[in-house]
Amino acid sequence: MTHSTLAKINASKMGKHQPRKRFGQNFLHDNFVIEQIVDAIDLNKDDNLIEIGPGMGALTEPMLQQVDAMTVIELDRDLASSLKIRIGANSHPNFHIITANAMQFDYATLYASFNNHLNPNDDNDNDNDNHNGATAKKMRIVGNLPYNISTPLLFKLLDYADLIEDMHFMLQKEVVERITAEVGSKIYGRLSVVMQYHCETEYLLTVPKGAFNPPPKVTSAVFRLRPHVVKPVQADDEALFFIVVRETFNHRRKTLRAIFKKSATMPTLTDADFMSIGIDGDARPETLSVADFVALSNLVSLHQNAAMPVAVDAIDATVATVAVDATVAIDADAAPALSSTSIQSAPKE
Ligand code: SAH
Repeated sequence: MTHSTLAKINASKMGKHQPRKRFGQNFLHDNFVIEQIVDAIDLNKDDNLIEIGPGMGALTEPMLQQVDAMTVIELDRDLASSLKIRIGANSHPNFHIITANAMQFDYATLYASFNNHLNPNDDNDNDNDNHNGATAKKMRIVGNLPYNISTPLLFKLLDYADLIEDMHFMLQKEVVERITAEVGSKIYGRLSVVMQYHCETEYLLTVPKGAFNPPPKVTSAVFRLRPHVVKPVQADDEALFFIVVRETFNHRRKTLRAIFKKSATMPTLTDADFMSIGIDGDARPETLSVADFVALSNLVSLHQNAAMPVAVDAIDATVATVAVDATVAIDADAAPALSSTSIQSAPKE
């Protein structure tokens, strides 16, 4: 992708669109940054590419030049119809625009429709082959979205992890640093453990405020999530795993011994218990790897079942209730940064 191609694309943008605060619109306009992002995504012609929140097409158009087919999901009707006029008028037959809320969207249908198109005779049983030797294409998802929906959307997309090859998102730099943090670092926390349990994570590039119009209040970054095809470690009870991660990081400055001594929500664990899974009772949460957290949550699960062998239904009910709470809490992990983003800084409509 050359600078001049991008310059032409941007020069041909539709008439002025007033950025809408309620849709969290901060449009990328720096060609150098756009080129870096598209290069980092590293597309192939036959990719099953989906962009969420294409806006005025800053990333869409250069990406569309590199693939045979692409689907975009845009909430703002005006932007969706402008894109349709501009790119549709260029008669790109395999460019699909869906006007919808990405948060309420069924990504499995999108996956199936791309792969049925690949081979209309497929039995649509999601078995990752289409019976003519070709493999069903997992989705590659890209989004520079409002930051307040990005984290919840990431968690929603993790439900479809089996159907996703990778995801490239823009978020506040500070949140991207936490998602991709290494064990032992000061910013390693709940978001790092939960994301890295599901995906390989990679920090790709820092994006300055000036690359956007209007500029957001904080620096951004682009990162890659590649869902594990086979998870390196698997929790016996995933809902419980998320609770253990949350509860433990709620006391990130305490030792595990102190956290599990008198917890209202967790069973009591002793130094011998910690030793049985190779963890030191003096350790603090930020020094536990994802594998350590899985071992810890498996141990908690054993203790809970041993403590209440009969009331299995009751345990399930408790876990289910707290699990919902856990999801909310994980999302809230990003909350301190959210209040100071772009979304508030956009001009009034
Ligand atoms: N990706 C473009 C636009 C960024 S602005 C660029 O980089 O320039 C964010 C875009 O996400 C806007 O187009 C906005 O309308 C869209 N958007 C916001 N909420 C959305 C949602 N829930 N579902 C789909 N699109 C959404």
